Amino acid sequence: MLIKKFDLEVFTPPCEPGAERYAARAHLMVDISETLPYLNATLRGAVYFPGAGALTWKKGGHNIAFHSYEIATSNVEDRDAAEKELKGLVDLVNRTWERRTEITPSFETRQRPTPMAIFKLLPQTNCKLCGESTCYTFALKLAASQRKLADCPILNEPQYDENKSKLGVIMIDGPAIG
Ligand code: SF4
Repeated sequence: MLIKKFDLEVFTPPCEPGAERYAARAHLMVDISETLPYLNATLRGAVYFPGAGALTWKKGGHNIAFHSYEIATSNVEDRDAAEKELKGLVDLVNRTWERRTEITPSFETRQRPTPMAIFKLLPQTNCKLCGESTCYTFALKLAASQRKLADCPILNEPQYDENKSKLGVIMIDGPAIG
């Protein structure tokens, strides 16, 4: 096991004094730099910066950053939620490291799609069946990984097949490995 333990730090983000949600960091005793190209290859929507030794990812409304000796996450409710979230990310790093011989590492820096790029490929009917008031709101939440492509039932209609395929290529739709 690569990461055996970590020190947890929970704090109010400096840019949001008085915020009711917290940010948290796991301070690591080992350098996880070598796992980043493997995470980059397996986490859909991850953005790897080889020169900075950092990889960012969005998952379930959390902005996550992996660095050599640190994993950080945003938007956690309290200390217990922070610990659970970071423990899940530590497990992800450990599982990925254990599977590294099965994974082709990627050193590519991908670009995240903008909300407008996503919106252009949505049906733009504002039908609200996804639970959002407009397709653009849905696009914003897709870009932030707070919704999934499958939450728009209209995309399953045959006339949107091509757009749905394009969205499938550009979209951040959660982890490719669990
Ligand atoms: S279900 Fe699809 S088409 Fe309807 S509002 Fe949501 S994103 Fe737009």
